Amino acid sequence: MTAPTPNALERHPVKPVTRPVMRLRERVYLVELWKGLAITYRHFFVNLWRHTRRALGLGGLPGAVTIQFPEDPAVVAKRARTRHRLLKRDDGTPRCVACMMCETVCPAECIHIRAEESPVTVVEKRAKSFEIDLGLCVFCGYCVEACPVDAIRMDTGEVALSTGSREELLWTLPELLGDAPKKPHPVWPGGESEKRPEPREQKENTHG
Ligand code: SF4
Ligand code: SF4
Repeated sequence: MTAPTPNALERHPVKPVTRPVMRLRERVYLVELWKGLAITYRHFFVNLWRHTRRALGLGGLPGAVTIQFPEDPAVVAKRARTRHRLLKRDDGTPRCVACMMCETVCPAECIHIRAEESPVTVVEKRAKSFEIDLGLCVFCGYCVEACPVDAIRMDTGEVALSTGSREELLWTLPELLGDAPKKPHPVWPGGESEKRPEPREQKENTHG
């Protein structure tokens, strides 16, 4: 009897963080309050100075700008690495050829792909399932760099990815392709699960 395959949450369990013991000065509160206010005022006056200089045409560093997020959309640079998406060919089929390059290069081990034979002769394989766990992703962009067919990009501009549970951070193939809206995933059951990814060691043997 083979041992049950651990899922991503079991392989990356929550790490408890020990709270630091507060010293008397911190417990008194007022000292820390004034320290916080001092930082706030320092930023306020530095930014006031920078904005004033630029308003008078004297140049210098730009001051900080406050964005009323989430009411106003987040402004991110065009080349910022944001939420992933998978691209399609002109005929509507996914570009991904399940080469596993992105999964292999991913330092966070948060990409899980299952391959299957492609029905079209132009490519050998395609992804049967393709999952990215954004709870583990470090947004390094290596997966995009490694892809030989430009099938994955991080250019959606989406940065508001917070959820109420770790399971909802798992993005599946139809969601990454834009074929299905992102929906919450049920908590993975303790038993067998279709979505359960294989550990890397087993996958290496399978996909040789
Ligand atoms: S951005 Fe980096 S950490 Fe995130 S899925 Fe791609 S390779 Fe992995
Ligand atoms: S590197 Fe590109 S083609 Fe290969 S599995 Fe990843 S997304 Fe698919």
